[in-house]
Amino acid sequence: MLVLAMAVSVAEGATLGALSWLLEPLFDRVFASKSTEALIWVGGGILGLFLFRGLTSIIGRHLLARLNQETAADMQAALLGHLLTLDGGFFQTHPPGSLIDRVQGDTVAAQSGMQLVVVGLARDLVSLIGLFVVAISIDPMWTLAALVGAPLLLLPALGLQRYIRRKTLQMRAESGLRATRLDEIFHGIAQVKLNRMESYQASRFRQILNRIIRAEVKSATGRAAMPALVDVVTGAGFFAVLMLGGAQVVAGSRTTGEFMAFFTAMALTFQPIRRLSDLAGQWQISRASLERIYGFFDQHAAALRPAQSRALPSAVPPAISFQDVSFGYDDATPVLRGLNFTAEAGQVTALVGASGAGKSTVFHLLTGLAEPQSGQILIGGAATEAMTLADQRRSFAAVSQEAALFDETLRENLILGRDGIPQERLEAALADARVDEFLARLPLGLDTPAGPRGSALSGGQRQRVAIARALLADAPVLLLDEATSALDAASESAVTEALARAQEGRTTLVIAHRLATVRDAHRIVVMDQGQAVEIGTHDELMEKDGLYAKLHALQFRN
Ligand code: ADP
Repeated sequence: MLVLAMAVSVAEGATLGALSWLLEPLFDRVFASKSTEALIWVGGGILGLFLFRGLTSIIGRHLLARLNQETAADMQAALLGHLLTLDGGFFQTHPPGSLIDRVQGDTVAAQSGMQLVVVGLARDLVSLIGLFVVAISIDPMWTLAALVGAPLLLLPALGLQRYIRRKTLQMRAESGLRATRLDEIFHGIAQVKLNRMESYQASRFRQILNRIIRAEVKSATGRAAMPALVDVVTGAGFFAVLMLGGAQVVAGSRTTGEFMAFFTAMALTFQPIRRLSDLAGQWQISRASLERIYGFFDQHAAALRPAQSRALPSAVPPAISFQDVSFGYDDATPVLRGLNFTAEAGQVTALVGASGAGKSTVFHLLTGLAEPQSGQILIGGAATEAMTLADQRRSFAAVSQEAALFDETLRENLILGRDGIPQERLEAALADARVDEFLARLPLGLDTPAGPRGSALSGGQRQRVAIARALLADAPVLLLDEATSALDAASESAVTEALARAQEGRTTLVIAHRLATVRDAHRIVVMDQGQAVEIGTHDELMEKDGLYAKLHALQFRN
């Protein structure tokens, strides 16, 4: 399609040369010799040229539009596909807003510029060549005179391009910041309002906008400087041609027709040269975005895992054990320090401990969102490092504190693209998770939209949907993070019932702050500063009178 678009543009470009070429017969044969016959074919020729130009122009634009859209879509899909393969560390250092801006903004900036450059280059370069052929065929000396100023262009052009690229990179970086800010504001809208941060956020946003404006204006001025330089050089060329050629026509050694054809050819080069000089700047703008896009393509998830799993959990449901696992989000602060514990197959194991003890981190490592720095994690006897991430994650279904739903219908939130789930299974999961209780009251039923981040449902309803989703995932291990912490008594009992059903036949790990909810766990692992300091049942731990008993006394003081 690109080649076709270029060919059409070339044809469009060639019409300019042909047009100026026709002026010579117009003046010398039609006007000078007063020939009506010549008038008709020259006039017809000019009409035909414009028709042809109109036709090629519309075909060219059509092809270009398709090319633009399809390239942008391909780039966006490829970029998202690649980003999805990157690991947790990448997403910690790249906030969602800036990623959105790169997927949406940079791809469009990059591709639209590239097409402009490629197709513009074809059309304008061919125009120029055609016009210069006409000009040289009339008089090489005049052509040379027209170009007297051209060498002046070179040096400033190179400097300008670097400047434009630098400013564009700045502008794109600020634009990423702008998207990040918007994302944070709208996701945290309740916090913004409660803390009366409206004007603070608005003014911070305004500062980013001001920086974008400055960079953008500088880049645009840089771009405008090229055509401006071209203007000056062209002026000098016109002057030289007028002095040289005009004098020859006055003296009678050349005809008016020759001069007019030459002068028209020169005048017609003006626009293409201006556009070409602008293309250089446009190319720098695309290049800046391309650099940012390829920066992402060059990042790869650390290849810690084999391409094919060498071992898989041997039992369903599997036991899970942490063996001397150490981990830190950065090198300076260890979060897990030689953690050891086992969650028996088919039983409920609770993780308790003060906030910051590392409980959520245990879940991150289990689900492969982060990798241990030393030690081993075994799932059903198989070490996680011998598994692909996909196989590791197949073992887990998670229900977390803020059950994250997508802004789609409840059905889509439950099925998550796994087509072919039989209706009976769906209904059984809905019943087990106690979703059917409130589903009956929703007029649209399963086709009710969940709203942004599931905001159309209450906390307890969201969690029950998340539990149904976990049931449908059919994973042998259930990870519950504070699953009932945000609920009132009535929803809590519904969710608790739902969870009890979900735990049947599964290995369950629960993070709980409220010790009342873990009393029935088969085993409680008490964590302190990244280590398991006590392990046992509620009664055993109470008897031991250690950290668990202390936490318990704190919570039940009243
Ligand atoms: P818990 O779930 O027991 O409250 P976490 O596992 O969330 O504890 O956190 C343990 C420690 O790790 C805390 O000191 C916390 O500051 C740190 N931490 C947690 N998540 C991150 C992260 N994404 N980046 C850096 N540090 C983190």
